[in-house]
Amino acid sequence: MYAARFNMKTVVFAEQPGGLITTTHLVENYPGIKSITGPDMGQVFIEHAMESGAEMKFDRVKKIEKQEDGLFRVEAGNDEYISRTVVMATGTKHRHLGVPGEEEYANKGVSYCALCDAAFFKDKTAAIVGGGDSAAIEANILAQHCSKVYVLVRKDHMRAEPVNQDKIEKDPKVEIKYLTEIDSIGGDGEKVTHLMLKGGDKLELDGVFMAIGQLPQNELAEGVGAELDERGFLIVNRESGTNVPGFYGAGDITNAQFKQAIIGAAEGVYASVKAYEYIQSQK
Ligand code: NDP
Repeated sequence: MYAARFNMKTVVFAEQPGGLITTTHLVENYPGIKSITGPDMGQVFIEHAMESGAEMKFDRVKKIEKQEDGLFRVEAGNDEYISRTVVMATGTKHRHLGVPGEEEYANKGVSYCALCDAAFFKDKTAAIVGGGDSAAIEANILAQHCSKVYVLVRKDHMRAEPVNQDKIEKDPKVEIKYLTEIDSIGGDGEKVTHLMLKGGDKLELDGVFMAIGQLPQNELAEGVGAELDERGFLIVNRESGTNVPGFYGAGDITNAQFKQAIIGAAEGVYASVKAYEYIQSQK
């Protein structure tokens, strides 16, 4: 939206538009919007960008290169685009736990999205793994459907936003089990039936949801030589610039510590303004 308002020809590439926020149930901490569903927020952002003059391309970007003439070559779908600047906002994907049974029972009781799958566990027992904000929020969603929800936290404390943690602590359907880790996920071949916990305990249940953090989708950084931090996030400065002139970062892919929609939006504003200034400086 900002890039288009600076009269730059702006193309937004997204195979699945809207990003990870579209799998969020409710967003209630975006200043000025008291409450909005994740899918609605994604849709409003897209509409706002397009009405401002940005073009949407529902293609996956395969490669970005910086040419010797300083322009960027972007391969997307079956086409090629040449641009003066690029903003990388590729976000993150869900981390997997990596225990036996996890891949075998994916979509058969193992899920990475409570909002998408909680309704399949109506009046059933489910566990959510993780101690962060996602785990607390998703435990709340699960508790609206399930008869019993375990929150399995590997440490002796959670690090969720207090307002979200308070809700699950007060919910009689939710039981938080600290110092608890999964050894393996077991089932009857068709669906999940239990977890084996480290220490040997067996936890009978119907589903297990992973909320153990995000991994950066950083593959495109390599082609332009943009620097990543030790965890694989794109290193940006306060003004969304990277080590590559004309290449900017915004949103959860950057090394900003706090992953929030409002931060991603603000980084996008900086990236757009700085991209504009960069283009002006090249004239
Ligand atoms: P986090 O990285 O914050 O938390 C991940 C949790 O999973 C931690 O408790 C971590 O444990 C645990 N964990 C990681 N690996 C394992 C493992 N192998 N076994 C067991 N537990 C494990 O991820 P979140 O997805 O919760 O949050 C990511 C970011 O997104 C945060 O910045 C958060 O604030 C933000 N967020 C924002 C929302 C919003 O804007 N409304 C909603 C949800 C998230 P440990 O504590 O021991 O490291």
